[in-house]
Amino acid sequence: MDTSKCSALVAKFVKYYGYHRHQCCLPIWKDGKCKIHHPESKKAREEKSRIRFEENRKKQPWHLLMEANKKIKELEETILSLEERIEYLEDPPGVDHYEE
Ligand SMILES: [Zn+2]
Repeated sequence: MDTSKCSALVAKFVKYYGYHRHQCCLPIWKDGKCKIHHPESKKAREEKSRIRFEENRKKQPWHLLMEANKKIKELEETILSLEERIEYLEDPPGVDHYEE
């Protein structure tokens, strides 16, 4: 193992042999690892990809539909409570009505 290089093992595709693992050839950045294989940058990459995944998910038709349905339900509940309010105002309890 070359200690002047990153200590991570990477899989490399070799024609006719398939994948084989070998030491990463990039120079050390921190703690014996290159910038790509250091846990810190791995974590940052994962976070970035998680955010991208999340943003992508929000653009999916099924997600937009789900959001729209949620909004419709909220609006329906608002309408219902407004209707109840109107009913109450038009016909408050305890007030007698007389036919004209
Ligand atoms: Zn590396």
